[in-house]
This record gives sequence, structure tokens and C-alpha cells, in this order.
Amino acid sequence: MAGSGTDKSKPGADLAGPVVILVEPQLGENIGMCARAMGNFGLKRLRLVKPRDGWPNIAAQRSAAGADFILDNVELFDSVEAAVADCTLLFATSARAHDQAKPVVGPEAAAQEIVAETAAGASAGILFGRERYGLENQEVALANRIVTFPVNPAFASLNLAQAVLLMGYEWFKHATGGALPHTMPDRSERASQQQLEAFFDNLVAELDRVEFLRPPEKRDTMLVNLRNIFTRMEPTKQDIHTLHGAVMAIAEGRKGPAKGGVLGGEQATRLRALLAERAVGTPDAEGGSMRGLARLLRRNPTDAERLLWDRLRSDRRFAGDFKRQTPVGRHIPDFVSFTRRIALELINAGEPEAVATERGARKAWLEARDYRVVWLEAAEVERDIAAVLGRLETVLGQVP
Ligand code: SAH
Repeated sequence: MAGSGTDKSKPGADLAGPVVILVEPQLGENIGMCARAMGNFGLKRLRLVKPRDGWPNIAAQRSAAGADFILDNVELFDSVEAAVADCTLLFATSARAHDQAKPVVGPEAAAQEIVAETAAGASAGILFGRERYGLENQEVALANRIVTFPVNPAFASLNLAQAVLLMGYEWFKHATGGALPHTMPDRSERASQQQLEAFFDNLVAELDRVEFLRPPEKRDTMLVNLRNIFTRMEPTKQDIHTLHGAVMAIAEGRKGPAKGGVLGGEQATRLRALLAERAVGTPDAEGGSMRGLARLLRRNPTDAERLLWDRLRSDRRFAGDFKRQTPVGRHIPDFVSFTRRIALELINAGEPEAVATERGARKAWLEARDYRVVWLEAAEVERDIAAVLGRLETVLGQVP
């Protein structure tokens, strides 16, 4: 049965367990639940001494939850003596002290002894008392040992079926060496050092590309820490494939036409500032990482860029003349029409000084080369694209 954890097609544990003897049980429900607990822990033999409500008992069947095979084979007795006659090792369970010269053991020790003795040919039995007053003194006297559970002394009495369950649990655990019915599924083979290394090389290359491993003096420590993350998790081959794929997917970014980026306007603005500062600083030495940033910007258009780009391509007034550019160098504007010699630039709100300064320098450079430069507020593009396009059309109509 899916989900219930009960699978009747599985072979039940076929172990020689102790006999469970309920002395004058009162409630059918408890008998049924005892049978269920026995079934859970591979116990099969149930004996009843004078059940109060007779036998069979419909309430017992209802609460057995499928442990009918145990109820069907119940053996009935008129006396405790008769019920335990064939037992060579007998335990009496009790919450109370009986003041008898008899060893008192816990359920675990009892279970160990039962496993050892039954292996040596003994037949073990465990007595359980009535719900109302447990076992009488002379019944306890029949047993070799008293079993009592380590419980709260101020509230020591368990429900009958739960007492059976505890004994069944301890016995089954010892009889089976604590084997669990299911464990984590086998993982794929563990990745070799070489596979881990290949992944790591790739990761480091990508991180270098985005200048994650900075400043240079911290690089070695960062690499050790990073590597330890992966060695600690003892990845499988499959894990490495997945990680590899994830890193590459992030590194390659969104493919195809610009789709709406993962960079917010603010992030994009910060990146642009970074680019602008670098461009002023050391254009050659850091050209590689600049290109990385530029590509990131290109792949992640802001809402305004996306909207404008979309209209520039689809609106017949512009006839697909404009190109969207990767801002790799200081002279590259956001959009350009080479045929009409027009450059368009988007101005993002709250941009830092460096970006504005760069844009000013770019404008001068472009105008010196006969380009007209149109600056558009990103906020306005987003608010009223139709108006922006209208203005653009006017500019296009003007003879330069
Ligand atoms: N009121 C009864 C307890 C009945 S509980 C009394 O005072 O003895 C029914 C049976 O569950 C008990 O006779 C005993 O066989 C078992 N049982 C309940 N609590 C137990 C405990 N703490 N240790 C061992 N057996 C217990």
C-alpha cells in the first residue's frame, strides 16, 4: 500500500520470538493494539488468559489494523500456569515493585537474554497484566525475572498495548542487529580528485572572469576555503555534473535576444560606474575583466533598455537602423545608427559622477566625428515611450 509503510508482499521477519501472554485483558481494543504492536516487531504468538469479554472479540479485530494473522492464531487458556507451561524462560512485566527475591531488569537486558536463550533452544514468554491492576503477586512469582521500564516514577503505568510495543521493539532491535527497513538510496559513485579538480578549475576561471577572487593577496586563502566547501561535501560524479552545469549556466547567462535582465536598474548603474572608472584608470591592464562586466550589462538590459530596444526594432519609423551595443569601450554608446550617424544614450536616475563625466566625454568624441548624440532619461522611457519615440522621430527628421 503506497505511503502506509505496510507492504504485505514483503516477507515478514521470520524470527523465533517470545510468546506474549496477556493475563485477563479487559478491553478488546487493547488486545487488538497488542496484536498490531506484535506485528510491527515480528512477534507472532499471542496467548490470552481468560479475556474479560470472551473470544473472539470484534473490538480487538477493529483495532488490530491488519494484524489479523496474529488474532486468528490466538491461543486461549484458563490459567496463567497453563499458558506458560512450555516456557523455559519467563518474564513478568510490571510497573510496580513486587518486593520479591527476583531479579528486576530493564526491557533491553530482557531482550538480549531472550535473543541469546532462544538461540540456545529456550522458549521465552512475557507476561502482561490486566489494565486495572496488573499482575498478581503469585503470577509474578512464576517468572524468572521482572521487567520494568525506565519511566517517570511519578507516572509509571503504560497502556497495555504500549507496554507490549516497547518489549517488541527492544526484542526486534536485538534480534535483527538494529537493521533499518530502508536507508538512503545509493548515491552515484563518488567523484575522483581529477573530476573535482576539473570542476574547480572551471569555477575558478569563471570567478576570475568576474573578479571574485580579489584582492590578489587574499586569492590563495579564498581558493582554499572555496575548495574545502566541495571536499567537505564529498560530491558524487552526478553532483559534479550538476555543479558544473550550474556554473556554466550562470557564466553563460541568458542566451539569445535580450529578454529582461537579472540586473535591476540600480545594479546596472553601479556596473556602468565601475566600467566608467576603469575606463579612465587602466584601460589596457584590466581590459579583460571590463569586457566581462560589459557583457554582463549587455546580457541584462534594464527595463528601459529593453523597452527602447524593442520599439527601435519594431517601429517602422526607425526601420531597424539602430544597433544595441555592448558598452566595452569609452566611445561606445548604448544604441547607434551608423547609417544615420545618431547615437542614443540612456540616463539612469541616481547615477554616479563618473558615469555622467564619461558620457559627456563620449558625446564630445562622437560629435567631433559627426555623430548626433541624443540623451534619453530611462525614467521617461519607462513612463512614456511614445513621447520619447516622437521626439526621436523629430530629431531624425532634422537635417544634421
Ligand atoms: N495499573 C496497573 C498497570 C496496568 S498496565 C498496575 O499498577 O500494575 C498493563 C500492563 O502493562 C502491566 O500489567 C504491565 O504488564 C505492563 N506495564 C505497564 N507499565 C509498565 C511499566 N512501567 N513497566 C513494565 N510493564 C508495564
